[in-house]
Amino acid sequence: MTAEPAPPDPTQPPRSKTGIPKNPGRRDLGLRATLLFPDRAIVEQFYVPVIYTACRTCYSEEVPEDIFRRAVAGDFDPSKMQKLISSVIESGHGSTIEHVVFTFAITGVSRTLSHQLVRHRAGVAFDQQSQRYVKFKDAATMLPQSIAEGDPDLRERYESQVDGALDLYGELLGAGVPGEDARFIFPNGTRTNLVMTTNLRALIHMSGLRLCTMAQWEIRRLFQLIRHEIFAVSPFLGSFLAPKCVPLGYCDEFKNRDEHCPIRPHKDRVLEAWSEKAGAAKAAGRALPTI
Ligand SMILES: Cc1cc2nc3c(=O)[nH]c(=O)nc-3n(C[C@H](O)[C@H](O)[C@H](O)COP(=O)(O)OP(=O)(O)OC[C@H]3O[C@@H](n4cnc5c(N)ncnc54)[C@H](O)[C@@H]3O)c2cc1C
Repeated sequence: MTAEPAPPDPTQPPRSKTGIPKNPGRRDLGLRATLLFPDRAIVEQFYVPVIYTACRTCYSEEVPEDIFRRAVAGDFDPSKMQKLISSVIESGHGSTIEHVVFTFAITGVSRTLSHQLVRHRAGVAFDQQSQRYVKFKDAATMLPQSIAEGDPDLRERYESQVDGALDLYGELLGAGVPGEDARFIFPNGTRTNLVMTTNLRALIHMSGLRLCTMAQWEIRRLFQLIRHEIFAVSPFLGSFLAPKCVPLGYCDEFKNRDEHCPIRPHKDRVLEAWSEKAGAAKAAGRALPTI
């Protein structure tokens, strides 16, 4: 016999709802991210040397072609190369990591996701499966977990609306309506495929936004898969793909002022602590330096 859950205690205030979306990584959403280029051998042989050459050229009399040749030949200590690259990235000198790119196949994501993804403009290129030119015989859709595991009646009605829309699409095509018009019936959940090429700077920026717990669950899952792909070819470069609060040291999302996401303190609290510290220093007769 399954034990009934205990009823809520009326003397206690209701438990506050956490705003952190459930980790989408625990559920197979049927979407994929595959790194098409480069492979591990290319990354290991050339990517760190290219970035190192860009960084070191700024601080060296040596010509870049010599730095690159020596870096590829293994003349420099790999840990020193990584240290310089890390400190340049952490200082925000992002142009040095625009010299390397990654190309992904992104498959089976919803149009809801792709609409968010293609909002990124700088340092990234997309090509997406056309709903004008492809006549879909078996369009697939994404079913959100809240609907899949929610009220069975609502789920049934949802699925029948989606199936109805896809059936009508087929009928419209059959009646000679062009694909570019019939597609207007497609739901946002319709799956799609893209190729995305991005330089490392843009990838770190996008990952900072999309790995954040404030990001929508599907795109967050996509960037978890992307991070996994980068880790497979370079744990060093993969380590820079993190929610934006990690390199910043604080959270700047206004919807996290209550700090329900605990990864980093909210910037309001950091500023509050700074202000308290400044006040205490002033009271003690030694004002903290300001610009
Ligand atoms: C949690 C979350 C919620 C969101 N909610 C909404 C929403 O409700 N509605 C909505 O419309 N969008 C929403 N967005 C999308 C968001 O506003 C951005 O359009 C998207 O994240 C792209 O990021 P980006 O602007 O940094 O662009 P990118 O193209 O990735 O640009 C990278 C950086 O380059 C610089 N840059 C790029 N283009 C320019 C330019 N033209 N001028 C100056 N600098 C530039 C900026 O510094 C920018 O941050 C949301 C995004 C997230 C992560």
